[in-house]
Amino acid sequence: MSDLSIVGLGGSYRVLADGRAQPGHYTSAGNAIAALPGVQRRLRPITRRACLCCGQPFNSFGPGNRLCRPCKEGVE
Ligand SMILES: [Zn+2]
Repeated sequence: MSDLSIVGLGGSYRVLADGRAQPGHYTSAGNAIAALPGVQRRLRPITRRACLCCGQPFNSFGPGNRLCRPCKEGVE
């Protein structure tokens, strides 16, 4: 997990991850806070896993992500 923080600069807000500014400017601290989960998700390491359904390798974002996109979308 990266350490996320929010800084306000001249009326716009940025998200920092481990002290590094992330892409994206927000007009309020509330917007920046709302964007934190997305930033955290983007920073997560991606691993190649075999899909539990079809066995095809795909980019997994974490332990809860074990199905490739076509299989996940087919299993609604
Ligand atoms: Zn699959």
